[in-house]
Amino acid sequence: MSKEIGLYVHIPFCNHKCYYCDFYSIAKQDSIVLQYMECLLQEIEEVGQNLRENKDILYVKTIYIGGGTPSCIDAKYIEDIIQMLKKYYNILPDAEITIEINPGTSTIHKLEEYKKIGINRLSIGMQTVNNDTLKRIGRIHTYEEFLNCYNEARNVRI
Ligand code: SF4
Repeated sequence: MSKEIGLYVHIPFCNHKCYYCDFYSIAKQDSIVLQYMECLLQEIEEVGQNLRENKDILYVKTIYIGGGTPSCIDAKYIEDIIQMLKKYYNILPDAEITIEINPGTSTIHKLEEYKKIGINRLSIGMQTVNNDTLKRIGRIHTYEEFLNCYNEARNVRI
């Protein structure tokens, strides 16, 4: 028998902690990101190998890379995650692959890389269009930066 599943990958880093946030995330430090990525890739491999022993064939319908702020780390790390998932899981050709991005950490280069590695959906955190409120709640971007990020994403056609 076959079953469809969804995968969630957590990136627990942000440039700065918003004052209202209850998600598990910490301020980014390069050495910790590196250690976390090594462990994460190992876990993806081990879980993938264990799932292959399952009597059902599992097909991945959705992948969601959330956080934290996945866009605050190097796009190369996101590529490593996707490659590892492709190696150990049966990902459907039309799978929805999402990444959460913060307008304050998005660049056109990252968006282009995301598209290249197969990401086909973005979740862009805006929270509010009011710049004073954005500042008061500890967000690292303005409404104008959100608009810029949105337009770049449209141009890249993710
Ligand atoms: S960017 Fe998102 S995950 Fe990070 S601290 Fe702010 S609300 Fe929390």
